[in-house]
Amino acid sequence: MSRATDGDVTIVAVATPEGHGGIGIVRISGPKAISIGRQLFRCRPVLGDRPRQVQYGRVFNANGTVLDTGLAWVLKAPKSYTGEDTVEISSHGSRFVLQSIVEAAVEKGAANAQPGEFTRRAFLNGRIDLLQAEAVLDLIQAGSEHSLQTSYGQASGRLSLLVQDLKKHVVGALSLIEVGLDFVEEEEGSYNKELVERELTAATDLSTKLVESFNGSRQRNKGYLVALIGLPNVGKSTLLNALLNEERAIVSDIPGTTRDLVEGSVVWGKDLLRLVDSAGFRVEGGVVEQEGVRRARGVANEADIILVVTDTSTPWHERDADLLKIPSRGTKILVANKCDLLNRQHIPLTIAKSHPPYDVSAAQSTGLRELQEGIKKALPRPQTVDGVGLTRQRHVGLVQGVLASCNRAIQALEKEGLPECAGAELHAALKDTGELLGEDVGEDVLDRIFSEFCIGK
Ligand code: GDP
Repeated sequence: MSRATDGDVTIVAVATPEGHGGIGIVRISGPKAISIGRQLFRCRPVLGDRPRQVQYGRVFNANGTVLDTGLAWVLKAPKSYTGEDTVEISSHGSRFVLQSIVEAAVEKGAANAQPGEFTRRAFLNGRIDLLQAEAVLDLIQAGSEHSLQTSYGQASGRLSLLVQDLKKHVVGALSLIEVGLDFVEEEEGSYNKELVERELTAATDLSTKLVESFNGSRQRNKGYLVALIGLPNVGKSTLLNALLNEERAIVSDIPGTTRDLVEGSVVWGKDLLRLVDSAGFRVEGGVVEQEGVRRARGVANEADIILVVTDTSTPWHERDADLLKIPSRGTKILVANKCDLLNRQHIPLTIAKSHPPYDVSAAQSTGLRELQEGIKKALPRPQTVDGVGLTRQRHVGLVQGVLASCNRAIQALEKEGLPECAGAELHAALKDTGELLGEDVGEDVLDRIFSEFCIGK
């Protein structure tokens, strides 16, 4: 048994980031938490006599010297974060004071907590499941409001409910099949086919949606890809700079100068975007340009949004139209650049109808706000299921496992008429849902997950 699973040990750590000068909290958890807390924090009535109430008092070190005044509260088992007796002492956040309280607690019999040990105990004591424990980590590390919302949704158990739902459908199908198997002497098909089918369809639908939500959250973390494509010299680099608001790409008026991919990131509102300027598309160009064109096509293929930039001071070119036909899963937005110049391009009516152009002058920064709004509106919003999405490779791997097992079970029933095989597949699916919730995981998996935490969480 590892130390972390040994609930006889009382642990202590600073629960708030150290050295911030504000308020700092030391957290003590375990069977001796209250008796240790009483030696370090003196107040009236004595600490622990009024559980869940904040008390004012003096903080002492192990030698009995007063370190600080502060607040403390006691949460009794099992109604605490860890599910154990817990004392939290809040003092002025000096690193020295906080460290001295931790050292004093260690002298009185507590052990220094390992990374994530409080959350690990919460998991081991059944206060939260593994999905929620992982979400606590995501919550601490959340980099944007969207990821914060997703991890909050998970920490509060919404993803766990969906996984339990998934499990319920698998169990439903499995029990119907197994009841059928008990009556083998009757003819094949003694189980209720319609009900089994309904459960399995519900399971595959839900797992498919969950897998899709992972792609959305990954996109959200890495940023949306916005590719600028267009003939040479139409002003792609200038537009990229204007949208990024800085000098990132080299601007020049010799056609084909920008041969490489140039990119920059911006945050617009709640969204992170990666803007990529591709090389100009030129059919007659040399080897370098052809390579540039190949890469630009690649980017367009990956992009969530493609800005097809044209030069409105020159006549509409058939090749501009070709760019709008480049295969891509992203949305194409037509940008008529250089609208400050007089000769206005005549964009064919059918094209203007299917891709209403945004009039922009990248050089003079006009029309950019409208273009920005147009881009934001066209961003594919990540799919979530009831507001939550998968965020970790571990989750998506297991949900994909459930999906594959359910699909094989359907195949075994429909095409092969082999309910035993279907049953075996569904047992495998159940193992995966159990692993998701942490019902069926080894110490090594837990060690890996909790080692990502910081001490005190
Ligand atoms: P790229 O090859 O498509 O990346 O084009 P560049 O951004 O290098 O621009 C080509 C030329 O067009 C440069 O001389 C820019 O100063 C000029 N240019 C870009 N945008 C505008 C614009 O909105 N108005 C005008 N008048 N010139 C522009």
